Amino acid sequence: MKTHHTLVIFSCALVLLLQGCALSSHPLGNPALGKASSSAEMERLIDQPGPIQMETVISADWTVSLAGLLNLESPAATQAGLKDRDEPIHIYAHLLKHPQRGNFIVDTGLSQKLLDDPGKEGVNWLVQKVMHVEKIKLRKSTAEMQQGMGGKLSGVFFTHLHPDHILGMPDIANDVPLYIGATESSGTSFKNMFVRGLTDQLLKDKQPLQEWHFQPDPQNKFEGIVDVFEDGSMFAISVPGHSPGSTAFLIRTTNGSVLLTGDACITRWGWEHTVEPGDFTADHERNLKNLKSMKELVARHPQIEVRLGHQH
Ligand SMILES: [Zn+2]
Repeated sequence: MKTHHTLVIFSCALVLLLQGCALSSHPLGNPALGKASSSAEMERLIDQPGPIQMETVISADWTVSLAGLLNLESPAATQAGLKDRDEPIHIYAHLLKHPQRGNFIVDTGLSQKLLDDPGKEGVNWLVQKVMHVEKIKLRKSTAEMQQGMGGKLSGVFFTHLHPDHILGMPDIANDVPLYIGATESSGTSFKNMFVRGLTDQLLKDKQPLQEWHFQPDPQNKFEGIVDVFEDGSMFAISVPGHSPGSTAFLIRTTNGSVLLTGDACITRWGWEHTVEPGDFTADHERNLKNLKSMKELVARHPQIEVRLGHQH
């Protein structure tokens, strides 16, 4: 009888472990911005400059294991003899100014508060150890960036919600709207158990997470495209794989179109050799397919400037 009980408990624990949990229990909301669009509509406008002023800021320098940034088991990486090593990368935030809609940022950079007291902001010892927080060097905090922008933030657009993209949240006001890809926070994974506490803490008291309403792309070039401001100036592109709701952005700036890949492609080597990220990637096959779709987009429109997840 006792053995039976132990077996039941063990099986339940195993199921829980395998199914994992959602990344966050933070509430979801309906998007106040955006309407479903198509790759045809986006590509009709893509070669013309737009109204958005954009600045990409290196918020911090960081060194991480290459195995996290690139799938070292991919044929291209094996062939090139790439081995795991420490790789220098940046943590970015992208500042956007829309002439009518106001100031927005894509991803959040890094808050000084988080370095001053990681424990208080929810960065437990395990996350600190895995992320090597001690190797993060702040250049410009999220608070400083906002001061430079002048005027309040009207929203934060996330490429995804992995910890290194929400480290600026302590500097984001509680009333700022937040936008994510579909199922980004609710998709379950075993690995989420380690970062769920941190994610929930950084989102605590913030606005609900508004999921983009992606619809299938009529031209079938992407999984879904949303016209963010409904004026063709910026498009959110659904590129899941690295995470369940990974989102890229095509921004028609005053200097031409810029593609933010998010961590659907993290490194320059990965972009040039069409290799998806490594550890912490939820679905490699889907990530690779979406990386190829983005490269094909840029091949059709070579004037697009590509800005990758963590490297120039
Ligand atoms: Zn990242």
